[in-house]
Amino acid sequence: MRAEGEHARSQLPLAGHATLWRRVFLSRHLAIASLAVLALVMPEMQPRGVWIALALACGLLPYSIALDLRMRRTGHLPRAMPYLDQAAALALMLAEPLVWTPALLVMVANLSLIVVAFGWRVATRAAAMATVGLIGVALVIDPAEGGTGVATYVVSAAATITIVSALSQRVRQYADIVEAIGVALVVLRADDHGDPPSLRIIAANPATTNAVGQTPDALIGRTVGEAFPDLVGTPLLERLAEVARGGAAFDIAEVRPLINPLAVYAMHVFPLPGSAVCVALEDVTDAVGASEALRRQALHDDLTGLPNRTLLRDRLAYALQQARRSDERVALLLMDLNQFKEVNDALGHHHGDRLLIELSRRLQEMVRECDTIARLGGDEFALLLTTDAGVSGATRVAEKVIRALEQPITVDGLSLQTHASIGIALYPDHAATPGELTQRADVAMYMAKRNGTGHALYDAEHDRSSVRRLRLLGELRRAIRLDELRLHYQPSYDLRSGRVAQLEALVRWQHPVHGLMGPGEFIELAEVSGMIQPLTRWVVEQAVGQLARWRAESGDVEMAVNLSVRNLYDAGFDRWLEALLDRIGVPGSALTVEITESEIMDDPLLAMDVLGRVKSAGVTTSIDDFGTGYSSLSNLRHLPIDAVKIDRSFVGDMSTDEGDATIVRAIVDLGHNLGLTVVAEGVEDEATLAQLVDLGCDRAQGFHLGRPVPADEVELAPQPVGTVAGDASTRPR
Ligand code: C2E
Ligand code: CA
Ligand code: CA
Repeated sequence: MRAEGEHARSQLPLAGHATLWRRVFLSRHLAIASLAVLALVMPEMQPRGVWIALALACGLLPYSIALDLRMRRTGHLPRAMPYLDQAAALALMLAEPLVWTPALLVMVANLSLIVVAFGWRVATRAAAMATVGLIGVALVIDPAEGGTGVATYVVSAAATITIVSALSQRVRQYADIVEAIGVALVVLRADDHGDPPSLRIIAANPATTNAVGQTPDALIGRTVGEAFPDLVGTPLLERLAEVARGGAAFDIAEVRPLINPLAVYAMHVFPLPGSAVCVALEDVTDAVGASEALRRQALHDDLTGLPNRTLLRDRLAYALQQARRSDERVALLLMDLNQFKEVNDALGHHHGDRLLIELSRRLQEMVRECDTIARLGGDEFALLLTTDAGVSGATRVAEKVIRALEQPITVDGLSLQTHASIGIALYPDHAATPGELTQRADVAMYMAKRNGTGHALYDAEHDRSSVRRLRLLGELRRAIRLDELRLHYQPSYDLRSGRVAQLEALVRWQHPVHGLMGPGEFIELAEVSGMIQPLTRWVVEQAVGQLARWRAESGDVEMAVNLSVRNLYDAGFDRWLEALLDRIGVPGSALTVEITESEIMDDPLLAMDVLGRVKSAGVTTSIDDFGTGYSSLSNLRHLPIDAVKIDRSFVGDMSTDEGDATIVRAIVDLGHNLGLTVVAEGVEDEATLAQLVDLGCDRAQGFHLGRPVPADEVELAPQPVGTVAGDASTRPR
């Protein structure tokens, strides 16, 4: 480890600098030896040259070798070395004044070594000591010449110390960086001796230990093949050699070292001067891990951990590609939970989330490994099947899923149950592309939902009807503006007087392409699209206007209009209605609003509230299609209604079916007991009409008495009951 101070720092060489120091010492030994030889052979130095050579060879050389050995053993140079080095040169000068000049040069050269090894402070101290020594020596040997020598020494020493210390500081900074940096750096040199030339490791920094599991000391001096036998014969080794031969730098984004397969390194390889190449290994495990986590997050659903829509799209594309090649089938199942919204609304998101998590777990347990189960958002899931993906295979899976989801799920002690609607579409039977397949599975899911069948296989016929629905939805929005809606009116008769008591306004759509369409084809669309509010207001306004005209002509005729349950959510409908009647000048009692029993039962409290307000505005209220909504008859007592309309399914068969006749009788009696007007709808023959008269029913309506017709075809003149002829103006249904 690193110790304090520049002295120590200078002696903590970058691993690989051991060789550098060996070279330095070698040249030092050689220089001393050469000086000894020179002293021996130069004639002008004789006879003292022999002694000098002897002093160099037997004094200075052993001293230098001792330092070298010590350096190799401990990695340190003795602190006295700078002073001893300079003193040795001074001693030599004293012994032989002839070597004054060469010794001066050696002393200056030696200072640069001292700066590198010990820093500028020590070098300056050694130079100062040497200057004092030099002055002494000069005084002894030749004061005149010596003065110039001392001055030369001082100037050269100052310059050498300044320049070398600046340079070595830079070098040391780089060395420090290389030492401390977390990037593993290994320097390789092409070895000329080997055949084929191998790469030898000539330097490595401490970070190498973590990256490759071997310390710099263990690596330096060995060939790459010796240090990493696994690399022998690999393209990587060949590429490294290529860079050493002068090839271009290269990067490898992800390298996983054998010693730690969980770690990921980025490798940068670049050439260095002298047939060398540097390999840098940067630990990018965290970055790669983070980007993998991000990738995972982008492709999975947070709540359930299932693949999301994006990942499904990828897998679907891949599956179709494979299937195309191998001529196999792929099935896509889209699934929607039927009661999820209710659970979520009633119990809160927490329970909704728990339910989704549990359902996802069940789904995952059930599917095969090669299948993908994805959550598309909300309560929508998708299943991608690539094996056994024919009609029967896919249907079997759908049934299995439905059964699995039907098992009650306990969330916080509550037992919850869900049902799924699953749409199935197959490649290549129904679609050729991922987009098409998804869209078709969606159509199938819609059908399954609509028919309550649990699952449905795509069928081109479905698609046409759903495309038609979509198109109609768009057109319905424009229908009012384009004046395409019409009202037909169907009379109901007072069974005692035989007169027309009321006309019921029934809406139609004069469609530019499809012709006259009945409400069964578009009322539901209007309800789901929110169009029902403007549509109803249009109907009521037209009907009340028409009623005012009829009342002006022929007395106290009444009008009935139909409300859908969605109209109950139209806050302010009752006030709007009151204002309308007021404006047009028709009494509320002349208008009846009908709402079906089943719609009232959808939200009885709301229905009671709205009907109550309408009734207190003086408008007559009636419950339509009575008998189909499973409300108990006694419920009628609590509803703010004036009339009850018996559903045509009982009336139509009452002349032949005794059960139906009993029901009609019971409703008539109960209605009368509650003080309600009882109306029978769907009267299609004379026998039924006669029966109703017998039962004491108040009013009757039906094709036998009159079909719905446009206003100008309505006949208001009193006609005896039983002789009213129907006008077949509506399309056959
Ligand atoms: P509804 O209120 O029960 O209207 C009576 C329906 O029964 C009418 O069908 C009428 O043509 C038909 N009908 C009348 N007499 C007979 C008969 O003797 N036998 C048979 N089989 N059917 C008979 P339409 O006009 O197709 O209306 C169907 C339903 O559409 C209506 O049932 C009503 O619930 C709804 N509807 C009509 N107009 C409107 C409207 O403006 N708003 C709302 N919300 N619903 C409307
Ligand atoms: Ca009605
Ligand atoms: Ca009805």
